[in-house]
Amino acid sequence: MANSKVAIVFTGGTISMKVDPRIHAAIPALSSEEILAMVTNIENFADIEIINFGNYPSPHITPNMMMDLSRLVKKTISRDDITGVVVTHGTDTLEETAYLLDLTINSKKPIIVAGAMRNSSELGYDGSSNLSAAICTAISPKSNGKGVLVVMNNEVNAASEVTKTNTLSLDTFKSPEFGPLGVVDNDEVIYYRDIISKEFIDTDKIENKVLLLKSAPGIGSDIINYSIDCGYKGIVIEGLGRGNVPPSMVDGIVNSISKGIPVVLVSRCPTGRVLDTYGYEGGGKHLRQLGVIFGGNLPGQKARIKLMLSLGMTDDMGTIRNIFEKNMYK
Ligand code: ASP
Repeated sequence: MANSKVAIVFTGGTISMKVDPRIHAAIPALSSEEILAMVTNIENFADIEIINFGNYPSPHITPNMMMDLSRLVKKTISRDDITGVVVTHGTDTLEETAYLLDLTINSKKPIIVAGAMRNSSELGYDGSSNLSAAICTAISPKSNGKGVLVVMNNEVNAASEVTKTNTLSLDTFKSPEFGPLGVVDNDEVIYYRDIISKEFIDTDKIENKVLLLKSAPGIGSDIINYSIDCGYKGIVIEGLGRGNVPPSMVDGIVNSISKGIPVVLVSRCPTGRVLDTYGYEGGGKHLRQLGVIFGGNLPGQKARIKLMLSLGMTDDMGTIRNIFEKNMYK
């Protein structure tokens, strides 16, 4: 039987890096062909098509570049000869790109995002094992209909749930709320559970001016008001605990909502959703009465991607609220 065909879109990241002896630090250096040559025996499993998007450290990837990547992956996955697409990416912003691809592409075929924690000059480079596991996940029929997946360290996680949890560990990508979807055991993908839901935001545009702000004791409204003066179109606040903010932030929130600028609330806690439990000034109940949108259990960086895409599609506050709150609150 002929091999399945997988397109690998290379974007850069540590998987493409080695240490430059002049500066003693890792920089993008490997070509796609050099990376693929280290994935030994992969020709026995899949035919690979290389697509070069670029060779960027992931802190250099902008939301507009993520949208360009989304268009490229959408075009590629719609080809009849392609079984699945793998995207290589730096791990620092991998969860944002993976989530954006998940929200903007409505295909049943597997789209896998993978990277590496150790560059190719380090002992135990994990780029080749992560890439082979990603390719095996992409050719497995069991991966169909699961949205965009992140495969690292032989674990399969949903792009909508996964986050980078450790600066160093190979086992850094975790879904702290729900756990992994499955594992890659040699070339076999074993799923323990299905995805919880698949969301789709039908937009080709993204709004770049969305602020992400973490709350902490004594944080005031000045930065919120300043961002409004600078033309920001949306604000995500990582609130305290169950979804509360210091009273000193309330003025800024009121100012924002009165100007039609949506404020989305998530929690700075790593797990658990936000809810309108507390009635004091700045508590969740008060924020909800002011018109704050509740962002469920998303981490701030992913809520920001969702708000950027929502604002790309519409500036209607009710529609944006529905995108965030449907299925989540009574
Ligand atoms: N700083 C690197 C990047 O995100 C880290 C990595 O790829 O693991 O490009």
